Amino acid sequence: MTAIAVDNLVKEFGDKRAVDGVGFTTGESELLVLVGPSGCGKTTTLRMLAGLEPVSSGTIRFGDREVTDVRPRDRSIAMVFQDYAILPHLTVFENIAYGLRSRRTPRAVVKDKVPEAARTFRIDHLLDRKPRQLSGGERQRVALSRSMVRDADLYLYDEPLSNLDAQLRYSAREDILTLHRRKKRPTIYVTHDQSEAMALGDRIAVMNAGRIQQIGTGEELYERPVNRFVAFFIGTPSINLFTMELKNVDGDMVASGCGLDLRLPESIAHRIRAYAGRKIELGVRPEHLHVPRMAPFDVTEDNTIHGVVTVIEPSATGSTVYLSTPEEAGAEPQDFTATFKVRMPASYLDQEVPLGIDLEKVHLFDAETGDSLL
Ligand code: ATP
Repeated sequence: MTAIAVDNLVKEFGDKRAVDGVGFTTGESELLVLVGPSGCGKTTTLRMLAGLEPVSSGTIRFGDREVTDVRPRDRSIAMVFQDYAILPHLTVFENIAYGLRSRRTPRAVVKDKVPEAARTFRIDHLLDRKPRQLSGGERQRVALSRSMVRDADLYLYDEPLSNLDAQLRYSAREDILTLHRRKKRPTIYVTHDQSEAMALGDRIAVMNAGRIQQIGTGEELYERPVNRFVAFFIGTPSINLFTMELKNVDGDMVASGCGLDLRLPESIAHRIRAYAGRKIELGVRPEHLHVPRMAPFDVTEDNTIHGVVTVIEPSATGSTVYLSTPEEAGAEPQDFTATFKVRMPASYLDQEVPLGIDLEKVHLFDAETGDSLL
């Protein structure tokens, strides 16, 4: 059953369209992440869902009930903000109890629920403290406990982890998933961090310039991005993009440019014959570039790119290598990135190396519109 249905939501601030026709539905216990760069309209969308920002047009439904113009307090929403919105003069206990008390919940229920939530988030020993006596991570868990004690129709999170250091972020993600699994209610989570989106979302909606570009599971967005924006935004390091021309050479489809002539495999070629002569951007994920002797396919001149190694960055599981195509007549050098599951020795710095491109895994975008051709 559909839990939340948002249709053609628009928000204008003066002549600026911050949200430009956003629509989506969520399942009954789905965690949907809204992700996108700063200023793309995520927070404004969330605030309209909460009723904190009136909509310019469009509708919001919770189940059978249209709530577009319903006051925030009548919407049954629990929200966790970036700054946690913790009240400094109240103790941890009172902060967690705040939403219950303002809804006239019986004292006995408050006395049960608050310590239970605090236990879930490991802050039950801090109930008498004031917020200023807490660390950032503890404050964040107070905010989570406060939303846990509420029985809401919809849970909203606006970048709740952005004030935490990397280590705490990971454990806080677990806490959020714990809360979500217990509540089994629709949840919408805003972040600009694609790896956080991947870690948390049942599905992810990628936003840009006020619009949803694509909604899908992390895997769908990664493997079948509908356009260049989604391909570039999802995945770290980002996908490499090469501007090229598609040519039909005796029936073979060849991507030509940046000093490369790449013969595309039939699995891709048969879908793009109609685009011969067009400018495209070829997208190659860094992990789909291989040192020839370790490639899971034959590396030939039809699928090789040469690069001069400019930086080698060791990682826990291998290395990220930054390269630049060699200077040649007619082609500007282009930077690109490769990730390997082995450590690349420092002696490769400044050396030119051949890398095999796994052409079965490349993405092709129309150079003008950015739309995927596959
Ligand atoms: P961030 O990740 O930086 O928080 P966001 O994706 O959440 O960004 P919004 O805060 O929704 O983006 O803002 C979307 C656009 O609307 C931005 O260009 C912002 O400057 C503009 N905007 C937001 N609130 C207002 C307002 N009250 N008045 C005018 N413009 C606003």
